[in-house]
Amino acid sequence: MSHHSRALQAAYLAGAFLLGLTAIQRAAHDVWPQALAATVVTVLLVDGAVRAADYARTREQLRAAIEEQTRRAARARHAAAITKDTEAIWHDLLAACCLTAWETGGRDHDTATCTRTENHR
Ligand SMILES: [Zn+2]
Repeated sequence: MSHHSRALQAAYLAGAFLLGLTAIQRAAHDVWPQALAATVVTVLLVDGAVRAADYARTREQLRAAIEEQTRRAARARHAAAITKDTEAIWHDLLAACCLTAWETGGRDHDTATCTRTENHR
């Protein structure tokens, strides 16, 4: 939970505590409309504290989910890039006349296995 969320929750609870005391004090003096109003606001403030905690928890879960999705997407992009590179290497290897030509970028040829005899010197 962030500092802001904790501070908000503490403010809600402090307000609820003070208004709860006010409600008790008003009730003790038989000032029922004020006691009722203070009780209602106390309940609303406690509800606010609970909602602030829920909000902070949900935000934290969303942040973690977004981070996990970002990591998964990066892994998928990496795997796709490796697959693409591998396909390109296989394509070049299969298109080469011989392994020596593939290894040397076409500079040398294996005269025993090369399929392009015009390359042999
Ligand atoms: Zn060759």
